Amino acid sequence: MKTFKIAALAGDGIGPEVMREAIQVLRVTEKKFGFRLEFTEAPVGWAGIDAAGIALPDETLAVCKNSDAILFGSVGLPDRDPTIPKEERPERAALLRLRKEFGLFANLRPVKLPKVLAHACPLARERQGDGIDILVVRELTGGMYFGQPKKTEDLGGGNQRAIDTMVYTTPEIARIAHVAFRAAQLRRKKLTSIDKANVLENGILWREVVTRVGKQYPDVALDHMFVDNGAMQLMLKPTQFDVMLCENMFGDILSDEAAALGGSLGMLPSASLGATNGKQTFGFYEPAGGTAPDIAGKNLANPIAQILSGALMLRHSFGLNDAAAAIEAAVATAIAAGHRTGDIFSPAETGARKVGTREMGGAIAAAI
Ligand code: NAD
Repeated sequence: MKTFKIAALAGDGIGPEVMREAIQVLRVTEKKFGFRLEFTEAPVGWAGIDAAGIALPDETLAVCKNSDAILFGSVGLPDRDPTIPKEERPERAALLRLRKEFGLFANLRPVKLPKVLAHACPLARERQGDGIDILVVRELTGGMYFGQPKKTEDLGGGNQRAIDTMVYTTPEIARIAHVAFRAAQLRRKKLTSIDKANVLENGILWREVVTRVGKQYPDVALDHMFVDNGAMQLMLKPTQFDVMLCENMFGDILSDEAAALGGSLGMLPSASLGATNGKQTFGFYEPAGGTAPDIAGKNLANPIAQILSGALMLRHSFGLNDAAAAIEAAVATAIAAGHRTGDIFSPAETGARKVGTREMGGAIAAAI
């Protein structure tokens, strides 16, 4: 039986609570679809500092390197020990270090708003159609955030000049385009590539390379949109999008704009993908939200973002699309049955029932 090794790093705050539910749900798919998941739990964040004195203990990193994917909770507790400098605090010392260590170049942020949760979305109902279902694919290691030169120069007379450089090479664009086209093949087969080809050299090259890569995916319909129009269309008619492919900075902005349509941080999973080896892609899977210290330890957190992150892991790292789809369908079933954690509950909704983290996880596991 095929076995996949997973480093389960729950972290701080609500991390352990939502991780427990995700593992429970993944265990159900394991039995049903006939594969084995080998979880190794390891401390990270403040849990790492408590266990071994640093946010990313060597043993935890070793567990990650020995795994096929990392399922991550979240790290950081803003009120803990202000004497610890920011470079040693979990957000930098654990999260950024892990992202760098594994060469994660593709960020996938799906946003799905089922019709029954229309009340949780800031858009008017008539703009939500039959529900919103968008995947933002963002390039994560290139563009303006990393291009050189990057500096602030002194011009004298009290003036300065700040320089950031936007730079992309053909292979960098092609590799993220392949990720986006493959993801579109598993969805509704529509890809909107976002650029600023009317103003930026980078945009012209981006559009050329994406078009060329697209020839290898004749089953996916490709169109192009300028980023300013993309930002506007997300508000006006989000139902027109299936997959949106963006360079780093545009993706940073548009993925957060799209996230706002999803109703709650507790509903939003994410995947960061690295290199593909044969049929397996190393990936880092985590909820879009943080440790939610305000509700931690109270059985109030919505576990859906963590559970859906597990589904993304099955799909994108292990090629188990049917099992991933079963988890997503089970989430939809639990929501349709009226289960609501506090973040997605509205007293005005008839037939909805407020439940805790455990009850939501249990309902999803039972629906698979
Ligand atoms: P947050 O995402 O933790 O919380 C923002 C709001 O969203 C809170 O009201 C919280 O209760 C709510 N929320 C988040 N996830 C939820 C869930 N699953 N169910 C229900 N409600 C949920 O953001 P913050 O308060 O700005 O940050 C808290 C800590 O988390 C900080 O230390 C921050 O650095 C860290 N953080 C970590 C990550 C990560 O590990 N990837 C990401 C973001 C923030």
